[in-house]
Amino acid sequence: MKILIVGGVAGGASAAARARRLDEKAEIILFERGEHISFANCGLPYHIGDIIEEREKLLVTTPEIMNEKFAIDVRVRNEVLSVDRNKKTVQVRNLATGEEYRESYDYLILSPGASAVRPPIIGIDLPGIYTLRNLEDTDRIKSAIAGKKSAVVVGGGYIGLEMAESLRHAGMNVTLVELAEQVMGPADPEMAAMLHTEIRMSGVDLKLGQSVTSFEKAEQQLRVILSSGSRISADVVIMAIGVRPENKLAKEAGIELGVTGGIKVNRHMQTSDKAVYAVGDAVEVTDLMTGKPALIPLAGPANRQGRIAVDNIFGLEREYRDTQGSAVCKVFDLTFAMTGLSEKQAKKHAIRYDKVYVHPSNHASYYPGATSISMKMIYDPDTGRVLGAQAVGMAGVEKRIDVMAVAIRAGMNVYDLEEMELCYAPPYGSAKDPVNYAGFVAANILRGHGRHFHVADIAGLRPDQKLLDVRTREEVLAGAIPGSLNIPLHEIRARLAELDPQKEYMVYCQAGLRGYLAYRILTQRGFKASNLDGGYKTYCMINQNASYDKANMTDDAGGEGDAVKEDAASAVMVVKKLDVCGLQCPGPIAQLRAAVEAIEKGQAVEIVSTDAGFAADVPAWCRSTGNECVGVEKIAGGKFKATVKKVGKVSCTPLTSCHKQMTNVIFSNDLDKAMAALIIANGAAAAGYKTTLFFTFWGLSILRRQPDKPLSKGVMETMFGMMLPKDINGLKLSKMNMGGMGTMMMHKVMDSKHVTPLHELLKQAVANGVKLVACSMSMDVMGIEQSELIDGVEIAGVAKYIEELSNSSAGLFI
Ligand code: FAD
Repeated sequence: MKILIVGGVAGGASAAARARRLDEKAEIILFERGEHISFANCGLPYHIGDIIEEREKLLVTTPEIMNEKFAIDVRVRNEVLSVDRNKKTVQVRNLATGEEYRESYDYLILSPGASAVRPPIIGIDLPGIYTLRNLEDTDRIKSAIAGKKSAVVVGGGYIGLEMAESLRHAGMNVTLVELAEQVMGPADPEMAAMLHTEIRMSGVDLKLGQSVTSFEKAEQQLRVILSSGSRISADVVIMAIGVRPENKLAKEAGIELGVTGGIKVNRHMQTSDKAVYAVGDAVEVTDLMTGKPALIPLAGPANRQGRIAVDNIFGLEREYRDTQGSAVCKVFDLTFAMTGLSEKQAKKHAIRYDKVYVHPSNHASYYPGATSISMKMIYDPDTGRVLGAQAVGMAGVEKRIDVMAVAIRAGMNVYDLEEMELCYAPPYGSAKDPVNYAGFVAANILRGHGRHFHVADIAGLRPDQKLLDVRTREEVLAGAIPGSLNIPLHEIRARLAELDPQKEYMVYCQAGLRGYLAYRILTQRGFKASNLDGGYKTYCMINQNASYDKANMTDDAGGEGDAVKEDAASAVMVVKKLDVCGLQCPGPIAQLRAAVEAIEKGQAVEIVSTDAGFAADVPAWCRSTGNECVGVEKIAGGKFKATVKKVGKVSCTPLTSCHKQMTNVIFSNDLDKAMAALIIANGAAAAGYKTTLFFTFWGLSILRRQPDKPLSKGVMETMFGMMLPKDINGLKLSKMNMGGMGTMMMHKVMDSKHVTPLHELLKQAVANGVKLVACSMSMDVMGIEQSELIDGVEIAGVAKYIEELSNSSAGLFI
């Protein structure tokens, strides 16, 4: 048997080696128009930036080795020009000599790959504009960047991202231009948003939503003109806007193409001609998740298809079982990986789905160096079948997505994920792996143990729905969803009286777990509630509001950033250094707050964290506390270093709802003073202040009511009881009471002028979320029991008052 193979890299070389292993006697000829076979295309970007220093390492095998090991006739620099299907021959040109010849075949395997797209933009053919596909391109780019400072990468797919990273590694100033509003096209936008921060923090000038309209020559450089009108000067330009299947040979031979332009093959990788097989980037595959034709150019499928095509040629019935698009990409210190269906694909193909977000640690958080993984899982809401997953993080990302890939392939559902037994020891994982965790969250929802809502639902909240933030105050200082009420999880049981049973509480925490606990508390206590899927972290991803300040960026490659860093460093006196690596939110922010509180004005704290969200949290925290964020920079090991200078005392500003807090003491039981106190409290609550009224001594009368059954009290307590008004309606004017006449007249005037009566003001205060606290010491002294107070009053001592007051920006004594 004689087999000819066109293309000597992923699909072609795999097919050749497999063919030899199956048949010792077959004549196998491999044509490759380039100089090399079986080189590592996936490693090319890393060689350009000297991350892979030795070029030879990219040569997985050579024609000589292929010949010695597999007795394969490898012909490099030989281009197959055409296929004569009737005569079963190919026309070949030897590119070294220019000689042309014919070669016959029993079977022909096409693995010509995909070529980089070069759009017809003005100036595209100017010197200095490159695409990257093979080692020759790599060599050209490498020599072009030698001694040069600036590069523009056009296209934010994985090749563009890898090139941007590599060029930064080579010390260049890099601009990355992407037409879409996100990099990494197949990813859902909120997952890509995390990459945007990382790319920018790594010193790349990322320009989203912009295209290149033309290139111009500018003295020794190129000028890149963008759709926004910006003009960027650069020494080199790398075009990485996508690839297109090399279908010319097949098309001209009359072999059928698919709707996508890829070569059409059946499940045996056989084309419309039974003697011709095709594999790799050049073929149209079926997308496993949508069932639709697709082009998914990846090395894994190309290699497997090469084997399958050969197996079928030798009669070993093998089928290619579609492509699910498992992919991974390193984006500086982050890893992005995905498999299966994305949300945007689900929407496009009208596939029913639901989704969950989880943000667990890559390994036990107590083991040093834990970092979080943000994972999104798409599943079928009817059957629970896992449809897709995407994840971003610093470590352990691809491992989880690989598990998800297997789960999808095996048709598993979210209940299977819950039960999955995955290896665990503290340095590697958690007893509840992120994959299990995604399963728990989705299964809880499907079983009805949890009700969730998505970030997109926030915009359409009804008047009877209220956002409830159950995070700590430190966390809230670093940002919160506007319009939220903040009751930290640990306070929720004690503060249920502040909640309105008529409302549905849309609960959220940082990552979803505490929100779920709050949801469980609330629903078991008779409240309606839902939990925000993935918490505030997901909200930030979707709103892309991770704050990033270019001026604070470190620029390892020189340029503006260095100057900024030096200036900042000279003005700052760092008196405390904290290493909070491995701590998850709110750990880093809580420690930062404590450290800033302990230093003097003008001094600074330097804090190093592995929490990617921390870089965004610090500027926000500084803004809301009035301190100065001197800089946030990425340092070695994927860590973030923030320097915070104390400007004033960490104090409340009206930026966050938790920080708009007022705590008033109500000492008096005079009608007019009680009115003033309640009007102020209601006004403050309406203005978004978290308001606490601390009732002490005579002020307790405002909270009094008749007990359900008579109480037996001592003499003193009974006397106090008789002296005090029995309830709020018994309060008298502080002046001009005139034996009760003045008070009566005041009630009349208020009524005629439609002033809200006192008992109504109290009701309103409760409905507005004003916290009513009765002083336990005064109750004790005056013999007032809890059953004599209206419902929903918290009983507490001076410590509670001091705690509330210290969180407040205002306080009155009435
Ligand atoms: P190729 O590997 O491209 O091989 C096709 C070969 O055919 C070429 O060498 C070409 O010269 C030759 N050829 C074409 N026409 C003829 C002809 N008429 N005569 C003779 N020879 C011909 N995939 C991943 O999964 N992960 C990655 O990280 C990744 N990184 C990548 C990075 C870069 C820079 C590039 C370019 C690709 C990357 N890929 C990656 C994609 C992956 O390399 C391809 O999916 C895979 O190589 C496709 O294999 P193939 O055999 O179809 O085509």
